[in-house]
Amino acid sequence: MKFIFADAIDQVDPGYDFVRDQPSKGRRPYWDDIYPHEMFKNAPYDGVLISRGIVGDARRVGTYSAAQAMRLRREGAREFLRLNTPALKNMPIFGDCGAFSYVQEKVPPYSPENMAEFYADGRFNYGCSVDHIIFGFRPEDKELDGAIDDELERFEITQENAREFLKVTKSIPNFTPLGAVQGWSPDSMAIAARNLEKMGYDYLAIGGMVPLSADQIKLALAAIRNRIKPSTKLHILGFAKAEQIGEFTEFNITSFDSTSPLIRAFKDAKANFYSKRSSGSKLDYYTAVRIPLATDNTSLKNAAKEGKISQDELLSAEKNALSALRSFDVGNRSFEDTVSSVMVYQRLFHRVKSKTDSAYQKIIASTEEQIRRTLTDAPWKKCKCEVCKQIGIEVIIFRSNNRNKRRGFHNLQTYYEHIQRVLHGK
Ligand SMILES: [Zn+2]
Repeated sequence: MKFIFADAIDQVDPGYDFVRDQPSKGRRPYWDDIYPHEMFKNAPYDGVLISRGIVGDARRVGTYSAAQAMRLRREGAREFLRLNTPALKNMPIFGDCGAFSYVQEKVPPYSPENMAEFYADGRFNYGCSVDHIIFGFRPEDKELDGAIDDELERFEITQENAREFLKVTKSIPNFTPLGAVQGWSPDSMAIAARNLEKMGYDYLAIGGMVPLSADQIKLALAAIRNRIKPSTKLHILGFAKAEQIGEFTEFNITSFDSTSPLIRAFKDAKANFYSKRSSGSKLDYYTAVRIPLATDNTSLKNAAKEGKISQDELLSAEKNALSALRSFDVGNRSFEDTVSSVMVYQRLFHRVKSKTDSAYQKIIASTEEQIRRTLTDAPWKKCKCEVCKQIGIEVIIFRSNNRNKRRGFHNLQTYYEHIQRVLHGK
């Protein structure tokens, strides 16, 4: 089972100055920044996926600038992602249409020809047909019964597009088309999958899985597997249950894409730092220590302007919290001293953000508990990855892109090692 990382130009500045919180001198964004596969000796994934929704185009703004989107199409995804080195030149590059970006529209904004052109220009190795997301999931609906609203229409659009897509991608060299599956029940998804197989697809991409629970995904996969050939390959699009991948081995999945190890580093309320356990098939998760930039944080800035908080007090608490953490990391500050310095800053900004006193008390108690757990176990010290070795405790501090994304890189590396163990016994 291959782990395909869904990229959104996730890079860090290799020369970032953590003490001054400043980018390296003369840094050119993108050109001087590095991808996860440039940070580590071995790439922490088996392939990369670029979604058209992330690239963006004239009708929709994506993460790419107009110049970057143009360069992707001119030079190809491999050049753009810097996967053109001897070690990485065979890493597969997947593409999808980014169906979430047009879920509200009546019909997808891309024709099969238009997507084929996008994949051909970008010299993708694999690309999904143009699907239209169906959000409903009702296991009790049998065969093609029970479709509501425009579910059947979306089902048919997805199937028709796949039929056309297969024809128009035939002439693209070194390209494998994936037929996209959408449905509102395990049965309708299984029928969609079997139809795609009959059209001539031998690799299918299962969409619409993001909001589903692990049990619902299993129901869908079991139904699909029941109706298709064992040799037909399956890819799960946007697999949000990536940590539970070990439970899915019976469905003979060839690949899945996810971005969750990276995203959770800065989007998850608690599980920001992945840590390997000495045994067992699970990971441990730690909460990062939030030290937001006092000068950069909107609610803190506003509170200072309104005189609710003293700017000087804020800046000195921020400075003390950071220096306490750094001293703690090298054994020059006691645990209790460090926790109390960090909590001074936590109290200042939670006081500003909390709506009621009881909400404030609650958040302070839980924050302190998480900080104590994170600093007691000091999981970054046990990690041997390049990020943790290079920047030490900075990796666990929730503050600015360069720390948060590096923590995401560490998570990718930890996750990738984890699945090698769980799936392949390595
Ligand atoms: Zn690490």
